[in-house]
Amino acid sequence: MSVITAHTAGFCWGVRRAVDMVLAELKKGDDSYEVYGELVHNPQVLRALEERGVSICMTPENMNSGTLFLRTHGTTLERREQLKLLPLKIKDLTCPRVGRALAIARKKSREGHDVIILGDPLHQEVRSILSYGGERAQVISGPDEIAALSGISRPFLLSQTTQNTETFEKTKNALQEKYPNLEYTFTICNSTSLRQDELRKMCVRVDCVVVVGGRNSANTARLVEIAREEGLPSYHIETHEELDAGELKEYENILLTAGASTPSWSIREVREKLLEIQGGRLRTGKIWKLLQNAIFGNFHVLPLTFILGAAGAFILNSENWLIPAMAASLFLYGVHTVTSVLESGYSSPSRLRRQEFIRSRRNLLTICAMLAFAGSLVLSVFLNPLWPAVLGVMLALFLVYSGFARKGISSTGKSWDFP
Ligand code: SF4
Repeated sequence: MSVITAHTAGFCWGVRRAVDMVLAELKKGDDSYEVYGELVHNPQVLRALEERGVSICMTPENMNSGTLFLRTHGTTLERREQLKLLPLKIKDLTCPRVGRALAIARKKSREGHDVIILGDPLHQEVRSILSYGGERAQVISGPDEIAALSGISRPFLLSQTTQNTETFEKTKNALQEKYPNLEYTFTICNSTSLRQDELRKMCVRVDCVVVVGGRNSANTARLVEIAREEGLPSYHIETHEELDAGELKEYENILLTAGASTPSWSIREVREKLLEIQGGRLRTGKIWKLLQNAIFGNFHVLPLTFILGAAGAFILNSENWLIPAMAASLFLYGVHTVTSVLESGYSSPSRLRRQEFIRSRRNLLTICAMLAFAGSLVLSVFLNPLWPAVLGVMLALFLVYSGFARKGISSTGKSWDFP
């Protein structure tokens, strides 16, 4: 029995960029912040942003001041012109890959093409592309709707960035049969196509697929659709609470994947629940927890580096090895721990639990690191006078590095720490 988590599951580049930009903006001051519509289609992300003071606003005309973020899916041309006239600071978070589709639609329309958009006509991104595609632009959601197209003489096809790649191929081929002069550009984002390709490949190895993501997320819905096309039972859920233990325990191998706006903490919760359903495979005993926390807190570095120091002394045939080995081990523990505390500001789905552990005990771990540095310096006083000097220089160099590292994290805006 196993739960395989897809490598591509979770935040895509465009969503991460938008969330990071909002959080970087929040750090700047006490302005009021609103998003024009849903920043991304995931209720948990929206809730986390709301808790930080960023709410959804559908009538920015009622705002007298503040910052208005434009969502990742794009804003129609007409609406964009209206918003520019408001006394607001506009921060455009349209994903650059959506921006590319908008720019292509506008260019092709200006060149006299009849722009055909493959996508969901009710989706915000498609509405935006439509507005850039000129008056003759039309939307279809698949090859079956080609017959309904009217007044086409110079067809140009592009698609919603989260479209199913196979549907695009089928639609393009069907259009080419009807309009041999068809021109097209592939505008499906590679975050979407890679996610879909991985899912198709993994489907042969599993007997069920669980997809985590917002109900109104187009790319999440596409993943569910693909899993069903591949003949597998698939479950679209928003949170781990929706998992049906009765049904899921029947499956041997489950693939867990997620939409582009699903946060990593949500994927982890689902994974843990799935493992639990599969027979309590998660190790949650006290000794296991203690060991895990010791490793998360870097305490394993102490014995490891001590053994390394002792081994070195043994090879050199040194009798006075104990204090130098202890001093070096404390110093390395301090360096490692301060670095972990600094880096816990980044979000890395593969190290999420460790980062959460460190973030929630930042102060305690920093105190441990400082005590270790102090202990290392005190011990070095009993050694050759060169020791404290060398440790002092190393500590100074490390503090300079830490300063740069902290600056680097905040300037890239990556120090977001969602729940
Ligand atoms: S899926 Fe692609 S187009 Fe959509 S937000 Fe992510 S990176 Fe941008």
